[in-house]
Amino acid sequence: MPELEGKRVFVTGSGAGIGKAIATLFTQRGARVVVSDINADAAKQTADEIGAVGVANCDVTDEAQVQAAVQQAVDLLGGLDVLVNNAGIEVSSPLLQQSTESFDKIYAVNVRGPFVAMKAAISHLIESKGNVVNIASIAGIGGSPLLGSYCATKAALIQMTRVAAVEMRPTGVRVNAVCPGFADTAMVERLVPDFEAATQVPFGDLVAMKQGRLGTPEDIAEVAAFLASDRASWVTGSHYVLDGGLTASLV
Ligand code: NAP
Repeated sequence: MPELEGKRVFVTGSGAGIGKAIATLFTQRGARVVVSDINADAAKQTADEIGAVGVANCDVTDEAQVQAAVQQAVDLLGGLDVLVNNAGIEVSSPLLQQSTESFDKIYAVNVRGPFVAMKAAISHLIESKGNVVNIASIAGIGGSPLLGSYCATKAALIQMTRVAAVEMRPTGVRVNAVCPGFADTAMVERLVPDFEAATQVPFGDLVAMKQGRLGTPEDIAEVAAFLASDRASWVTGSHYVLDGGLTASLV
């Protein structure tokens, strides 16, 4: 039987990048997926390409939109087994030169977004004994120049994952996180010029030295699929690192 046969899944930010790969792989593994993004055109294109059950868009910074999108997904799917909190943004700036408005924005997307989505979904997940997969980052584990506020948000997401997992354990709901290194998406493309300027090292060389190769969105979708599946029934409160060994190495 396919790994995710019949699972009813809602993925935020799934019009592009890692979210799109998750929506695609989950569908290939038998899940019924509702796509969601701030970019309605991208969401529709993903949904059409993969044969999703439907689209329920939201900007994750808007709690009313998130609540409405989760309810729309529940209506389309007849319930909810898996929430994937994937939508996220980066800010490339020396930490203490970043504007407070920009800090508030990244926090609103990367931390408050998953928080309000979990709140909106939790009663449905309790009913199905479902689970949450939060897309965090190795930036939540180690510091990186230029990514100060991003690191702070991803560390917060890992901590929310832990606490939600423990609090939800009696209900049968599992909550886990995935922590990718650099993967081949538009987000990383946007970061490359600033990283090259700061390190004076070509990004390809940096990636080859630190993580062997750039991750693919599919690398991340594979681990998300495992965590979302019943094979991971004893896995909760965890954060899975996928980084080609970057965080394992001191040199
Ligand atoms: P991406 O290529 O920029 O795609 C993100 C998607 O989310 C885009 O479709 C984007 O729409 C959408 N989005 C942005 N803000 C949103 C909002 N407020 N509400 C709903 N959707 C929103 O990014 P990605 O690289 O796939 O990243 C996906 C997740 O993985 C993020 O949480 C990121 O932090 C995490 N991650 C990525 C990497 C990496 O190397 N790529 C590594 C570690 C963790 P627009 O394009 O219209 O803005």
